[in-house]
Amino acid sequence: MLVVQKYGGTSVRDVERIKNVAKRAIEYKGRGMDVIIVVSAMSGETDRLLNLAHEAAKFPDEREVDVLISTGEQVTSALLAITLREMGHKAVSLLADQIRIISDSSYGTARIASIEEEKIRGALKEGNIIVVPGFQGVDRDGNITTLGRGGSDTTAVALAAALRADLCEIYTDVDGVYTTDPNICDKARRLDKISYDEMLEMASLGAKVLQIRSVELAQKYNVPIMVKSSLMEGKGTLVCKEEMIVMEKVVISGVTYNKNEVKITINRVPDKPGIASRIFSSLSDANIVVDMIVQNVSHDNYNDITFTVVKADAKKAFKITEEIGKEISAKVAMDEDIAKVSIVGIGMRSHAGIASKMFTILAGEGINIELISTSEIKISCVIESKYGELAVRALHKHFGLDAEDVREES
Ligand code: ADP
Ligand code: ASP
Ligand code: MG
Repeated sequence: MLVVQKYGGTSVRDVERIKNVAKRAIEYKGRGMDVIIVVSAMSGETDRLLNLAHEAAKFPDEREVDVLISTGEQVTSALLAITLREMGHKAVSLLADQIRIISDSSYGTARIASIEEEKIRGALKEGNIIVVPGFQGVDRDGNITTLGRGGSDTTAVALAAALRADLCEIYTDVDGVYTTDPNICDKARRLDKISYDEMLEMASLGAKVLQIRSVELAQKYNVPIMVKSSLMEGKGTLVCKEEMIVMEKVVISGVTYNKNEVKITINRVPDKPGIASRIFSSLSDANIVVDMIVQNVSHDNYNDITFTVVKADAKKAFKITEEIGKEISAKVAMDEDIAKVSIVGIGMRSHAGIASKMFTILAGEGINIELISTSEIKISCVIESKYGELAVRALHKHFGLDAEDVREES
């Protein structure tokens, strides 16, 4: 049996915590399992390194930033391997370059293309516990890359998929996936199980407990993920196929909250073919991902177009839109004071009236809805940012998530 375990920043915060990780790995090994451990950088380390890069240059070179920030994970890998050996166990750290975790060359947001098995299989055969730094890859020219914030989750799932592991455990600072961020809402409940589709929506909508890409890979390769706390014992949450979940009366599984977007509005856009295409092509040419788009009904041959992008792209998106706005004599405005609250649940597919219930709950709190978007299993509303946490708590309560654990173990 092969298990991949991933430990996030708080779980390897210091040598004491690293010793805990080593103990658990040795215990698993003692039960006859092969163990691969993926580690994050110590908490705060990636931010610290990024700040240094920005002290050195306003726009630091992207390739060198990846060389820099990948070192955080390298430090914890070596420390864990040293600790395991000190405890009398065979262990070896293997960096992305040594394994050959090949990625594309998009520095800072690289995607894993392939993983070679040979080196890891050989080291496992020799009885080693393998320690792999998360978050890093290497492109075909040998350049170091990183996989985006939270990318160690993706390293773990990709390794589990490539090596056909029996289990992928993600150890973090909460004891599972909750109905909403437990650090915002003290009524949040741990879920025993959640489907890949729901987890994907939750991650995309702001629940950072798993990186989006890791859930995509887990679903594609059918890797069950167990999210657990490294600090306390508990059942954790299994992220798995929908068929493995016994549905109860549950319609909504989670509420998410995201303050990381801005809203850009172009007022009085001439109502003729090709203008929306021009705006959004220019944004996509600049590699800007647009999230929500709303265009109102035409009045006297003009309409307003509103869309949202992540804060990191706000300035660039505003500039591009403003330039097009000038050409067509349309005014462009940006609102940074927004939050997106969303409800997620596979039960929505078979229940009518969920959207209206959501709008009624928000109205009941006096919260105005600025934008709405829906998919088969989620509804998102953009609201004024100061109401974000209030909205989360109200939705959580009125959709019955404050009650007992919503899913039974099956
Ligand atoms: P790690 O450093 O272990 O990767 P992260 O900080 O990336 O941990 O993710 C864990 C955090 O995710 C939690 O501390 C919690 O605040 C946040 N979080 C947001 N939404 C949820 C949710 N629905 N369930 C659990 N945790 C959540
Ligand atoms: N250290 C990286 C980050 O802080 C990757 C990770 O922890 O998953 O984003
Ligand atoms: Mg994380």
